Amino acid sequence: MGGLVAAEKLAKLSFDVTVYEQASSPETMRYDWHDDVNPSVFRRLGIEMPEGSFKKKSWTFVSPHGAVVREFRQDEATADWSVERRPLNKILVDRAVAAGASVVFGARVERAIVEKSTVVGVIVDGREERADLVVDSLGVSSPVRKDLPVEFGVTQHRENEVFVAYRAFYRKNPDAPAPKYTNKVYLKHMGEAGISWVIQDHDPELVNVLVGRIGSLSSYDLERAIEDLKKTNPTIGTEVVRGGEMCVIPVRYPATRMVANGYAAIGDAAYMTIPMLGSGIASGMLAGQLLAETVGENLSRGVKKEDLFKVSRLWRYQVKVFREFGAVHCAVDVLKRGVLGFPDNMLDWMLGSEVLTNEEIGCLASGKMLRVGVKEAIRKINVTEYSRLRTLIKVNNLLQKSLMAYRLARNIPRNYDPNITRTWEENLKRYFKR
Ligand SMILES: Cc1cc2nc3c(=O)[nH]c(=O)nc-3n(C[C@H](O)[C@H](O)[C@H](O)COP(=O)(O)OP(=O)(O)OC[C@H]3O[C@@H](n4cnc5c(N)ncnc54)[C@H](O)[C@@H]3O)c2cc1C
Repeated sequence: MGGLVAAEKLAKLSFDVTVYEQASSPETMRYDWHDDVNPSVFRRLGIEMPEGSFKKKSWTFVSPHGAVVREFRQDEATADWSVERRPLNKILVDRAVAAGASVVFGARVERAIVEKSTVVGVIVDGREERADLVVDSLGVSSPVRKDLPVEFGVTQHRENEVFVAYRAFYRKNPDAPAPKYTNKVYLKHMGEAGISWVIQDHDPELVNVLVGRIGSLSSYDLERAIEDLKKTNPTIGTEVVRGGEMCVIPVRYPATRMVANGYAAIGDAAYMTIPMLGSGIASGMLAGQLLAETVGENLSRGVKKEDLFKVSRLWRYQVKVFREFGAVHCAVDVLKRGVLGFPDNMLDWMLGSEVLTNEEIGCLASGKMLRVGVKEAIRKINVTEYSRLRTLIKVNNLLQKSLMAYRLARNIPRNYDPNITRTWEENLKRYFKR
């Protein structure tokens, strides 16, 4: 999605742009379903929202072993929308083409071509395609990013920084009683690192089911998880009508190095999503705009053509990404890693007690910064029984750590200097050791 937005905006700056996509058409691109996107991104980029999009309802969180259920009431005005992905792909392809870009379907990108410390093109279906700039929007497993020389310093993820998910829309069992909660999210479902969800608030015929785990999801674990969900959600029928596929997306803070000479990563290729936050599509699209904006600014400053795509010039794109949303993703990633390390009974307590307000749960669910003022901290202490005070301190320490990561990420060096930027990267990575 980010690649297509970048294609449109760069073509409008009169660049000669080609997009290579392995699918045979927008209608057969991956993910035959709808996903949550903050509507502000459509307004900001002047892109129409696809028809059939609908407003999301509130979430209900279920604790690891199902003992505690907590409803989060969403602010209607700022709620995400769920957007059909294939019509959105079509809109983005049409806009890129109308702006003068060409989109080549059925084209498989194999790897980068690197010469003299610069990415100078890609191999597509065995052919060399040369370019002044390669925008890598091939998703988390991008063969282009993986193939870059280590000395470029472009960020690669660890094994435990991906989210492996199965998503399927089951035909609703017509004989089952209506569910009490229609948007359930199971945190650390069955004690495993990850989430599952059962959503049935939109289509009267379908139940939207997800089982996602950090690192890996075996077919045995998937079967157990679906069986468990079916037990408490008898509306889940047997026939899978949409989806029914395994997917891999990143589950980590954004790449601390997403640019190199002649290269810029965007979207999942640069780890711009955090599952559950409705962030991947919006962040990728916004990043497409920020990349083109950076190039446009350099052009109007009179930067010479041969310098336009040097790492020192592209760095400004990364600065914009971190200031717009990357720093918030860093803060959320610190929280996510911390919460996954909490014992299950601590999560039961956090969801079941009054320690987290509705607004705070909303912040956590939608990826907004969580800041606790003195008055609220005192209230939390008052509602916490003595035996849980140590737990409260742990939660508070985690919040502080997440705030510090946010501040450092937002303080990304404005200009590119190999030593200064490397030090910033090293310091930021310390928050994500586990
Ligand atoms: C189950 C699930 C639920 C999600 N829910 C949400 C949500 O609610 N909201 C949200 O914002 N995000 C959600 N996401 C995340 C979102 O899907 C990603 O963040 C987003 O798709 C990233 O877009 P992208 O264009 O960077 O990468 P991708 O969507 O991975 O797209 C990469 C593109 O590159 C193509 N490609 C890959 N390799 C090659 C190759 N070698 N040659 C040519 N083409 C290639 C692919 O076909 C694809 O079109 C969800 C993801 C999953 C799996």
